[in-house]
Amino acid sequence: MSAVTDVLVVAPHPDDDVIGCGGSIAKHVRDGARVTVVIVIGRERSALDDSVSDAAFAAETEAAAKALGVHRCIRFDEPSRDFVLSRRVHLDLVRVLREVRPQVVYLPHDNDDDVEHRMVHRLTVEALWMAGSEFFQETGGRPMPAPGLVLGYEVWAPMARFQYAEDIDGQIETKVEAMRAYVSQLRHAAWDEGIRGLARYRGALSKGSGHAEVFQVLALGAAPAPGAGGGDRD
Ligand SMILES: [Zn+2]
Repeated sequence: MSAVTDVLVVAPHPDDDVIGCGGSIAKHVRDGARVTVVIVIGRERSALDDSVSDAAFAAETEAAAKALGVHRCIRFDEPSRDFVLSRRVHLDLVRVLREVRPQVVYLPHDNDDDVEHRMVHRLTVEALWMAGSEFFQETGGRPMPAPGLVLGYEVWAPMARFQYAEDIDGQIETKVEAMRAYVSQLRHAAWDEGIRGLARYRGALSKGSGHAEVFQVLALGAAPAPGAGGGDRD
């Protein structure tokens, strides 16, 4: 199998990438891959966030990406609650896909409880098809080969069934550190401890101990997940 050189993570909101697959991102980086994160929708403000400027929040997003070793973080800043699956936003994602040409793609799983997460799932599945087609030349770039592996991640609400578990024992502290970069979000709840708890739960279920992230396998081809072949795949 050829090594993974490029990974693309599509996140509906800032921090969904950290929660859903932050450990796997850190593992891909350890293995020498370049990871690009696309955050589709902009920040949702609550009354608790009024004192946090957009610049300060953007700095938190950057710090989280840096903690995981993300190569490039792209923010589309689509408006929350006014987000629509327009032709424009599809083409924006096709443009990124054709540029990055990832072998592994992460997106929210198809049955997520959050409506915007489900919309971003649909957006990504559609954009993957579009990026591989001969159409949409206005985005520039050549048609993209199909990624070998497309994985759906969970954000807080555990998915009922998963097909793949990634061992993140070596990455759990990095994942928690990335979550802690979202200083303003930790005022709402102890998300950092929530991340640790979810990873422990998934570790217990998938391998009897330790920490894991679990995924829905949406497409499976030649590209290995991080650590695959290293003996830690179930
Ligand atoms: Zn979200």
